[in-house]
Amino acid sequence: MENFDAANAIQDLQYFGEFGGINPSISDSSTYTFLSAKTMFDTFEGNAEGCYLYSRHSSPMNLYLAQALAKMEGTEAANVTASGMGAITCTLLQICKSGDHIVSARTIYGGTYAFLKNFLPPFNIETSFVDINNFEAIENAIKPNTKVIYCESVSNPLLEVADLRKLSEICKKHNLKLIVDNTFSPLQISPIQLGADIVIHSLTKFINGSSDTVGGVYCASQQFIDDTKNVNNGSCMLLGPTMDSFRSASILKNLRTLHIRMKKHSENAMYLAENFEKYGLKVNYPGLESHRNHELMKSMMHQEYGFGGLLTLDAGTVDKANELMEMMQQENLGYLAVSLGFYKTLFSCSGSSTSSEIPEEERISMGLSDGLIRFSIGLDHDIERTYQKMKTCMVKVGILM
Ligand SMILES: *Cc1c(COP(=O)(O)O)cnc(C)c1O
Repeated sequence: MENFDAANAIQDLQYFGEFGGINPSISDSSTYTFLSAKTMFDTFEGNAEGCYLYSRHSSPMNLYLAQALAKMEGTEAANVTASGMGAITCTLLQICKSGDHIVSARTIYGGTYAFLKNFLPPFNIETSFVDINNFEAIENAIKPNTKVIYCESVSNPLLEVADLRKLSEICKKHNLKLIVDNTFSPLQISPIQLGADIVIHSLTKFINGSSDTVGGVYCASQQFIDDTKNVNNGSCMLLGPTMDSFRSASILKNLRTLHIRMKKHSENAMYLAENFEKYGLKVNYPGLESHRNHELMKSMMHQEYGFGGLLTLDAGTVDKANELMEMMQQENLGYLAVSLGFYKTLFSCSGSSTSSEIPEEERISMGLSDGLIRFSIGLDHDIERTYQKMKTCMVKVGILM
């Protein structure tokens, strides 16, 4: 793990455009012509190296972006999809068939939770939800038909950190696949190095970083990627969540600055977390010693990227949270919006937005209170100025004295 440097691996990838351009050319075609009918047949079967047939199968720019993301996670291969959910659903449906069982962390992205809880059972695929740091509960939940342990490396929205080394051990013991959604911690955590089998990202967030598109990727072995793209029974080939080439081109360009952006997001979030905590606010940030997974995070992360751009603040009640968010937006401190990884700060009340699919009693039992505001801290040049303005808003709303 010490020798693994994802940013260097991305930097070293060189793709030239058709006319010697320093960015690769975008292939503006859904279908491709052949000089010989035999080559067309071979391409359909996946046997003609460097040939393209149809852009749902593959396209040059999507392969470039996928290759860069495979480098980032240290896998043999990857496949990009039109959204993060496209990557999650295709990965799970490739592995799990009728009669199979999944063990999943209970604090996961709301859409993933809804997919596991509501969408899969009619297909006879059941999921047990567990506290991902309770290894005894995980072992107890594993059944003979379990195929997968699913978790997020840093979870949404409570920023719980999963012990990937330990989970990988459990998976090896029971012959399961460990699938990790690494959306919150690109570059910071390298799940494959810690024993994961498949890593998923919503590219919509930090990796693209400009909140102008949705996108996803799953990074895995060449065999697994090929299986999902099989024309007869591949989940991604047949469900068809294909990313557009223009979008993969713009995401690839944004990926080139990810290492700089992650450092700044983390630096700013750390500053705010430390200062608001000093002020007596209930702050949840893995970089704080008060965070219950602080030491675990330290043992898993590449230190130079810091503890990430997300933090939560408890405003007490949903009314206070709403008042504060509206005021901060008016003061141009950021946007009252879901999602994360943008260059401006984004904030939303998790219980009533991205985690609203999770039933109220489960939200309470996992510590997701109604007044919890999730912040995705932006790339603010002067974070001390931001802090002072935020503090003024909090005093006005009555959260701070
Ligand atoms: C946003 C998000 C997703 C879903 O990704 P989309 O691109 O919106 O489909 C999945 N997992 C996590 C952790 C996310 O934050």
